Amino acid sequence: MDYARIKRFTYIINSVILFLVIALGGFFYLCQATILIWFSIPTLLVYIIGYVLIAKDRLDIYVRLVYFWITIYMCFCTFCLGYKLGFHLYCFSMIPIIFYTEYMADKLGKARVNAFAASGVIAICYLLSTGYTAFIGPLYKVDNTLAGTFWAFNSAIVLAFLMFYSRLMLSIVGDYENKLRETAHTDRLTGLYNRHYMMTKLESSIKDGSSLFVAMVDIDDFKKINDRYGHNAGDYVLINVSRIMREVCSGCKISRWGGEEFLILSSGKDLENVISLIETLRKKIEAEDFIFAEDHIKVTITIGVSSYADGTSVDQWVKTADDNLYAGKKSGKNKVVS
Ligand code: GH3
Ligand code: MG
Ligand code: MG
Repeated sequence: MDYARIKRFTYIINSVILFLVIALGGFFYLCQATILIWFSIPTLLVYIIGYVLIAKDRLDIYVRLVYFWITIYMCFCTFCLGYKLGFHLYCFSMIPIIFYTEYMADKLGKARVNAFAASGVIAICYLLSTGYTAFIGPLYKVDNTLAGTFWAFNSAIVLAFLMFYSRLMLSIVGDYENKLRETAHTDRLTGLYNRHYMMTKLESSIKDGSSLFVAMVDIDDFKKINDRYGHNAGDYVLINVSRIMREVCSGCKISRWGGEEFLILSSGKDLENVISLIETLRKKIEAEDFIFAEDHIKVTITIGVSSYADGTSVDQWVKTADDNLYAGKKSGKNKVVS
């Protein structure tokens, strides 16, 4: 989640809490809990200040203020009205939220909240407020039906918060995991699979695939392209050759095997079809007008194809393609050898 989204999300949370404080104010009025009615005034102020803090990008201060105030508010309500109303339950949603905030602050490089210490403070407040009313009793008496209704309302909110945050946390962790996996599997420049990941694909393909072919693709005289047009032009060629390979060999797995070498894995086709596909690729690249900084760059590729023979290793299979590629290079380049 990016910062703008977190900010929008915090605005929504602040508004929801503000709405709850107003609704609770009405309830305290019904219970004639004078202390709590007065306590609602600074509480409202806290959440109005909250909007200012969010707008000024001081989410760090906002988070600490809100956690502090919710803890005070919850304890105050429990002292005044007793734990039957379920205000103490907010402690249980506060603790995972604090750990979530610590995690997000760390990810965004902001000052971290010490979630463990903060949770300890919440636990102490919880024990003091519920303990006080358990042994001594609340300041105000609340009708049982009203208390029960409130218990249900508070429980629902706390449970909803817990479900929402747990899901959010999981989806954030899942997103990071996917991003990491993608980074670990792909070549940064071309967006193709990297060699390491392609090896795992090759290993698994020989276990359960049939009619398998690899094509080792190498750009001809690529060093000259770099020398003549510059390294950036070389990168541009690599990116666009990769794009064309993706377009032409859309059903295949394609990797960047080394600097200007690529390995294509095809499964389920016969040799004739594979040769014809690779020949199409070769012609397409030869015909393409690569234009970089007004220079028209001529690019050709040489390809060595090899079919998988049962019982041989991946290394042997790839080496045969490499040998064919070498033969192609020696006999004039810009050709497919199988
Ligand atoms: P051949 O036709 O025999 O394949 O000759 P070649 O010049 O293509 O092969 P050689 O192995 O001599 O040179 C490959 C060059 O590719 C050398 C290296 O600097 C360049 N290269 C490797 N990786 C990159 C890269 O990521 N970007 C750019 N621009 N150049 C790269
Ligand atoms: Mg080359
Ligand atoms: Mg090479």
